[in-house]
Amino acid sequence: MTHRPSLRPLPPKLTMDERRANLELAKRARHERADVKAAISAGRISIFNAINDPRDSIQRMKVIELLEAIPGVGPARAALIMEKRKISLSRRIAGLGPHQLKSLRQEAGIMKLDPQRGSLIVMSGPGGVGKSTITQYLKGDPRFWVSISVTTRAPRSTEKNGVDYFFVTENKFDQMIANDEFLEWAEFAGARYGTPKQAVAEWRDLGKHVLLEIEIAGARQIRASDPSAKLVFIAPPSWEELASRLANRGTDSSERRAARLALAREEMAAAGEFDTTIVNEQVEGVVSQMVSLATALQE
Ligand code: 5GP
Repeated sequence: MTHRPSLRPLPPKLTMDERRANLELAKRARHERADVKAAISAGRISIFNAINDPRDSIQRMKVIELLEAIPGVGPARAALIMEKRKISLSRRIAGLGPHQLKSLRQEAGIMKLDPQRGSLIVMSGPGGVGKSTITQYLKGDPRFWVSISVTTRAPRSTEKNGVDYFFVTENKFDQMIANDEFLEWAEFAGARYGTPKQAVAEWRDLGKHVLLEIEIAGARQIRASDPSAKLVFIAPPSWEELASRLANRGTDSSERRAARLALAREEMAAAGEFDTTIVNEQVEGVVSQMVSLATALQE
């Protein structure tokens, strides 16, 4: 992924051609930054459009430069906002944390132009089709925010609370249902899983496309509650390929393997209920189709 800036020092010896290419790149980056600032000054875009812009040149910009570009803000007020919102003056866009982003959103002076609300993308597909690899890619893309679900299942050895899932007790899950905290929830393989409603709304308000990676019953609930959501089904290149991937996974007993295959067959049968099916031939291809879908929804 190249969305995040890398602050590597320049290699020591450059040929003339390399030096020229670097200068060219730097010049293009300056132009891109100037364009973004001009668009903010003219009120054509909000600072959140810039924050969600995946280009390296923009992700490397200092946050304060964005604030200064807002009509009526200027350097002194920009610095005050940064101080009040506890953001260091040298902070670059790519380094903004979730709390800082939400805090900036609350700043009255920069609310003049709201970010365009992000879209809601639901991704489902049979086990073993590669959903989590796709999710990993989109986690590195500043245009997206990947929802973190709540679950009653036990964490796996590599999983972290608050990163992979919020792991809760059955009681807590019941309470969350009673408090209407879920956008959807469903039972899967003996545990319950749910999407927290508030976080999804907050991130969409920040202009991020929100991705839910959930099973099919949950996707159906989203379809019913939010017709503007885009439902994407990830399919394997062939049934045989999926079956062999499932068969080679882990050290499962033959009963568990058979159960997983049966479940995958059921999941495959639901593909027709989705808006789009993307065949996972190659993860980069799927990711770029997801980006196009999300962006098209917003326009
Ligand atoms: P796992 O336990 O392997 O992480 O996930 C099992 C299944 O639950 C996967 O199909 C995953 O997509 C689904 N899942 C994860 N989070 C949610 C959620 O919040 N809601 C629903 N409905 N399904 C979820």
